[in-house]
Amino acid sequence: MAPISIPQDSNAQGVVDQIERQFTLSPETLIDLTKAFLNEFELGLGSYGHPMAMIPTFVTGVPDGTETGTFLALDLGGTNMRVCEVVLNGDKTFNLIQQKFKVSEALKSGEATALFDYLADSVHTFLITHATTKYASPHSVDAGAAPTGDIVHLGLTFSFPVEQTALGAGKILTWTKGFSATGAIGNDVVKLLQDAFDRKSMHVKCVALVNDTVGTLLSRSYIAGGSIVGAIFGTGTNGAYIEEVAKIRKLANTPIAEKGGYMVVNTEWGAFNNSRSHLPFTSFDNAVDRLSINPGFQAFEKFISGMYLGEIARQVLGSLVDAVPPILFGGKGTPVLNAHYGLDTSFMSNIETAWDDNDHHTIPSLDAFDQEQLHPHVRAKLDRIRQVIVEDLAFQSEKVTLKDAAIVRTICYIVARRAATLSGVALATVLVQTDYASLPGQAKSLKNEKETINVGVDGSLIEKYPEFEKDLRESLRVVVGEDVEKRVDIGLAKDGSGVGAALCALQALKQIH
Ligand code: BGC
Ligand code: MG
Repeated sequence: MAPISIPQDSNAQGVVDQIERQFTLSPETLIDLTKAFLNEFELGLGSYGHPMAMIPTFVTGVPDGTETGTFLALDLGGTNMRVCEVVLNGDKTFNLIQQKFKVSEALKSGEATALFDYLADSVHTFLITHATTKYASPHSVDAGAAPTGDIVHLGLTFSFPVEQTALGAGKILTWTKGFSATGAIGNDVVKLLQDAFDRKSMHVKCVALVNDTVGTLLSRSYIAGGSIVGAIFGTGTNGAYIEEVAKIRKLANTPIAEKGGYMVVNTEWGAFNNSRSHLPFTSFDNAVDRLSINPGFQAFEKFISGMYLGEIARQVLGSLVDAVPPILFGGKGTPVLNAHYGLDTSFMSNIETAWDDNDHHTIPSLDAFDQEQLHPHVRAKLDRIRQVIVEDLAFQSEKVTLKDAAIVRTICYIVARRAATLSGVALATVLVQTDYASLPGQAKSLKNEKETINVGVDGSLIEKYPEFEKDLRESLRVVVGEDVEKRVDIGLAKDGSGVGAALCALQALKQIH
């Protein structure tokens, strides 16, 4: 290979170091953030209308794995929309068949009725192509004809903030994650969907509504025999946990409060600190927020979730390309690098995988490149990264140097590590809130001091991003201490949304009958 010429820039290391410092959170910061988080929990539990909505879900029990039944589930709000048929076998196992559907940008931002018609059509497609024979012809061909035959019960996983009023009813509070369909906010999402089924005379009844975090909690509980938290670290982020009804003070004087006991609360932690008083905003975060379709909202989510991490990294990389003299790519971009949301979080994941940290090499100081002092092994790893950059960002091969590769890896690393660290804070907050943990120096008696603390998770970051869980745990340990952190069992609730919706549908039918 021809020698690579690099623009002489002695300041690169200094600039990258300074960015790294901005993305590194001290233990004190993590503890402060947890306290601010706990305050917002209190506010949301106390009254309605706060950004962190602390939504009562009307789910008052968790499954133990003995549940049985066959249900349809519709899952909207992640990267794909999915329709599934879930068979709960009653022995902690389930069978699931699913079909994925793409939701176009036009549907995300058009009329809500068009979006819900598309959901209904997708369910129809699934029923006639994938579902087991039981549902062979659920669709009445004559528009407007009265439904005949068995009604199919469906649970809807709707992964947006919804103020629930019952297991099967709730008003959409706001859109997140790039959705902005009109005519939805303030309306009952179950009714919007049911109306679409009815417009098409389909024999499908939506009986339950569940957030993906709640679905994850329930499904983890079904497979593990119990769980106290469900969390999503994917396109968006959020968590649900089991709270004492007495502590959900905004339910005071309602029939449900009189019964007492426990209820799953959907925190909507993606909206933590929308007031921006505590989160460590950088100029790059400000740019991400300003250019988003919901500036000022989902502050926490924009630090953490898969929808935004690539964009944060892109903002940082862009600033290094534009630096005078240029620090990255000789001052050049590509259409991918230059496009808003052009850089997918999977790019960062690919970079991280190409670096492959298992042999504990560290990224060399950028000066080493000018002096060509690279360990051959490190050179090989950086060359793999270089290839990912060339491929994913569509650069001409000779335009990307090993030094560029080193810089890109550092940036991806610090952006993802900060996301995982903040995710640990969110989880720590739930553990403190529920008395499974205490803050450093706080004296209180803890719950079940020996038992495993079961946490169900789902989402591409926690499932696939190298080191995400490790970094999350490191920050969890800072806030709640090693003894508690060690007892936390973080388990993937694969297909949690589908299984959770089915479990909720089952619950709803029991309440009806
Ligand atoms: C939504 C939550 C959802 C989370 C994960 C957020 O944007 O507001 O309701 O649980 O994404 O999908
Ligand atoms: Mg999902």
